[in-house]
Amino acid sequence: MCIFCKIAAGEIPANRIYEDDELIVFKDIAPIAKIHLLCVPKEHYARLSELTPAREAVLARALRLIAENAVAWGLGEGYRLVVNQGENAGQSVQHLHIHILGGERLGWGE
Ligand code: 5GP
Ligand code: ZN
Repeated sequence: MCIFCKIAAGEIPANRIYEDDELIVFKDIAPIAKIHLLCVPKEHYARLSELTPAREAVLARALRLIAENAVAWGLGEGYRLVVNQGENAGQSVQHLHIHILGGERLGWGE
């Protein structure tokens, strides 16, 4: 089982912010911004190229979940979503996840 599957199954602890049947949100263990959350579909797959209509629906719901909770999660002044895909992006966990970054002014291309 991959590390995010283990977190989803409750086998490894994580600082959980939100959870339902299909999605889990928890704090990244090595934050690169003041607020760094991970929104993870519980189903294991690694890439957007593996999307199906069912997975697509869960991901769309993830985006709405993030938008609806942004203020509650301390992201009211803005945030950035990142989905690393593959080698060149440095994807280190092969289980699809959305990074949620914020809590401060984020650099871009500096
Ligand atoms: P990637 O590089 O695959 O886009 O992102 C993986 C992220 O997962 C990294 O930001 C890393 O810090 C985070 N991460 C890796 N292992 C764990 C863990 O066991 N717990 C938590 N909370 N985050 C993790
Ligand atoms: Zn997994």
